[in-house]
This record gives sequence, C-alpha cells and structure tokens, in this order.
Amino acid sequence: MQYISTRDGRSPAERRSFDDILLAGLAPDGGLYVPESWPQLSPETLRGKPYAEIAYAVTEPFIGDALAPDEWRRIIDDAYRPFTHKDVAPLRELSKGLYLLELFHGPTLAFKDYALQLIGPLFDHVLAKRRDRVTIIGATSGDTGSAAIEACRDRAAIDLFMLYPRGRISEVQRRQMTTVPAANVHAISIEGSFDDCQDLVKEMFADAPFRRDFHLSAVNSINWARIMAQIVYYVAAAVALGAPERKIAFAVPTGNFGNVYAAHAARCMGLPIEQLIVATNRNDILARFFNQGSMALGPVEPTLSPSMDIQVSSNFERLYFELTGRSGAATAAAFKQFRASGTLPATPAQWQKARELFSAYRVDDALTKATIAAIYQNSKLLIDPHSAVALAAAQAARRDPAVPMVAVATAHPAKFPEAIQAACGIAPEIPPRLANLQALPERLVSLDNDLGAIEGFIRAHARLGARR
Ligand SMILES: *Cc1c(COP(=O)(O)O)cnc(C)c1O
Repeated sequence: MQYISTRDGRSPAERRSFDDILLAGLAPDGGLYVPESWPQLSPETLRGKPYAEIAYAVTEPFIGDALAPDEWRRIIDDAYRPFTHKDVAPLRELSKGLYLLELFHGPTLAFKDYALQLIGPLFDHVLAKRRDRVTIIGATSGDTGSAAIEACRDRAAIDLFMLYPRGRISEVQRRQMTTVPAANVHAISIEGSFDDCQDLVKEMFADAPFRRDFHLSAVNSINWARIMAQIVYYVAAAVALGAPERKIAFAVPTGNFGNVYAAHAARCMGLPIEQLIVATNRNDILARFFNQGSMALGPVEPTLSPSMDIQVSSNFERLYFELTGRSGAATAAAFKQFRASGTLPATPAQWQKARELFSAYRVDDALTKATIAAIYQNSKLLIDPHSAVALAAAQAARRDPAVPMVAVATAHPAKFPEAIQAACGIAPEIPPRLANLQALPERLVSLDNDLGAIEGFIRAHARLGARR
C-alpha cells in the first residue's frame, strides 16, 4: 500500500510507504496521509475470531512489506494481552438493539490505548530496523497524552513531548501523564486551549530545520497508523452483531474527527454501516457543518466531556479531500482559507455528499448529565460523559430502529469522577489501574503559549538534535 497527502494527491513522486508515513506523521506539505486506495474486507471470514486476529486481517493490507507478517502478528498479540477484558472491545446490550462498545479496557482506560498500545512497539520496531530515533510531539485534550506516554515510556529510540491545555483536563487525566517516572516522556501544560496546543505542534512541524534536527514525529490521530488501528473495533463490533448480512449503525463522540473517520474508513473497506452519527458536545462546529453546511470557527468552551473540547478537527481534512474528489490542490486551498478566515468553504454538492455519509447531533452538558443519570437509574451502570454524549446522540438521531445501534464508549467513568458525581451523586469505583495515582509525585512543567519557549524546552530535553 502506498500513501498520498491530502494536499497533494496527484504527483507519483510523493507516494510514500507505510513506514515512511508512520514516522513522518504529517506530510511535509502540511497535509494528512491517506491510503491510495481502500483494501476490501471479507467480514464473513472474521466471525467468532479473537480481537487480535481481526486486527491482523484489517491492518495487514495497510502495512505492506514494512514488517514481516509474523513480526506484525507478534506485535499485535503482545499489544492486546494487557487489556483487562477477554474480548478486548466488548459490546454491552443496553436495550433491544441498542449497544455500548466499551473501549476502555486498556492501560489508561480510554479508547486511545487501542491504537497507541500497537503504535509504541511498531515505532520501536521500524526505528530499530532503520537504526533511527524520533522525537514525538503531540497535543492532547486529555486521553491521547496518557495513552501515548504509557505506550512510549522507556523506549530507547523515542523521546515524547505532550502539550496539554492547563486546567482544562480532568485531574485523573493530568495525573496519568505527570506521575510516570520515565525520563524520555514529558507532559507540558500550556496556557491556552487544546486548539492552541495543536497549533503549536503544527508550527513545530512547519519549522523545517527543527523538524529535521529532531526527527519530529506524531502519534496524534493525524498519524494514519492511529486511524488504521481504530478501524479494527468497528469491524469486530459489526461482525459480532451479524455483518456482513446485517447492517449496523454507530454513534461516535467526536473531537478531532479521528475516531468517527476510522468508522468511515471501515465503511469504505466494505463494512455495511447504515448510519454514522457524529456526536459533539457544546463545541459543535462539526454538527453545525453537517446540519447547516457551514464550518465556522467559534471559541472553545469547557464542558463535562473535555476530550472533545475542540473546534479545529484535524481529521476532517481527510474527509474533505474525498469530498473534493481527492483534489490535493482544492483541499490545500480550502484549509489555507480556513486558517486565514476561520471559515471552511464547501460547495452545496460537497455538503450534500457529506450529509449522505454522516448524521450529526449536539449534546449539551445538561443532556449529558441527564443521560448518565438515566442509564444509572435503568441499569445501575455508570458511563463517562463522552460515552454519554454518544448515547444521547444515538437515541436522538437514530434513523432505523431495525438496525442495531452502537454507541461508542470511549472512556472509563473513573477518569471523570467529578462529572459522574454531578450527574447522579455517585462516585465511580476506582479500578486497580488508577488506585495509586493520588499518592504518586507529579512532574509538572508549565510553559507559555509560545513557540520559542516550547522549542527551547525540547532542545534542552530531547536526546536527539543539534548536539549530535
Ligand atoms: C479523544 C477522545 C474523544 C474524541 O475522539 P476524536 O478521535 O478526537 O474524535 C472522545 N472521547 C474520549 C474519551 C477521548 O479521549
């Protein structure tokens, strides 16, 4: 499989292999990498198979010859072994035809583990083969940070720097990042929003000498490997519910558009997805686009579901590229305009096409709390606020009650005890993996929203770079 940039698309010289795009993260022209074509699934062959086997079948065509088949197989088997549920990504039926897909059984209790536990060893493997090293930089709205730190800690060929918006993530999320004692990982709080953090990361990537000296790389969902790994649980869930004979619907709580784009990718690979609901919180730029046709930036507002407090959804560019008929030139022009004016241009035909592919629903904090309280009343089950956004949207925007609807549960309730307490007066039970967190010392680093300050910190702490 070869990959192209969403801002290039045409010139054959720019085609890249899997290991190249894994290490690069973002394309040099500022675009995101996408596969040149969609491999097609055979869901009927996956029925009853363990998660790791489904993961291998789904990802193998994307990897190409970057790894030997038995090496890749071993990495996958090892990656999902520490997950605490035997099904890895189990389905829970809430009522007839309505399900939760539980994606919080990994080491840091959010769905980000499902991709990052795979990507850490994948980086190691590819870097060892190339005798290379990288500096991974990223922005986190809360859960990517801890999942990436957990996946990369103490890896000899990786230094990791994670920017997070100060005071805008939950205390559990912060402690999961700042209490890890590994010398190669650094969590840095920035005075600003998630979008500010993400902008800083993009600016570092645009700083060509810095990018070159530090071999910058990314594990945010701009990295195609993240999306690839996330396709797997959509396939596993659909097959468990009767695909390919039966169609299926998903409601996905959305911030950076990565997770719901992975569901779309599964559909492009032939998974019979009847409806795909983009569920947003009050930061509803995506819901406004799908429902009203214009994508205009607003301020980022804090909500009960902080991992979705985002306005600029990076992965939307991958969808936009398709809406333009894979025109790199049109995509590049549109995203330049978005950056300059805060409004993304879309023709009526592009909007129409987008609406055929996605439904969208906005869930405010009141409805989020009411959903947490209702599900607790009905089934004595606690769900986290992000999962509640998905569930509320699933119930409100569902088109066909005959099609099984799966709300994607992206985090464990214990990551957001304050929100759960506010919704139903109950404190979620603390799972063993979080039990120690309060007692561990934190390593706190705070920097201004300033490119020079952050590059300076990385220069001083990365093991790669100008000193070599
Ligand atoms: C990251 C995250 C989301 C949003 O996922 P995107 O891929 O950014 O759309 C939703 N819920 C939780 C718990 C998250 O950590």
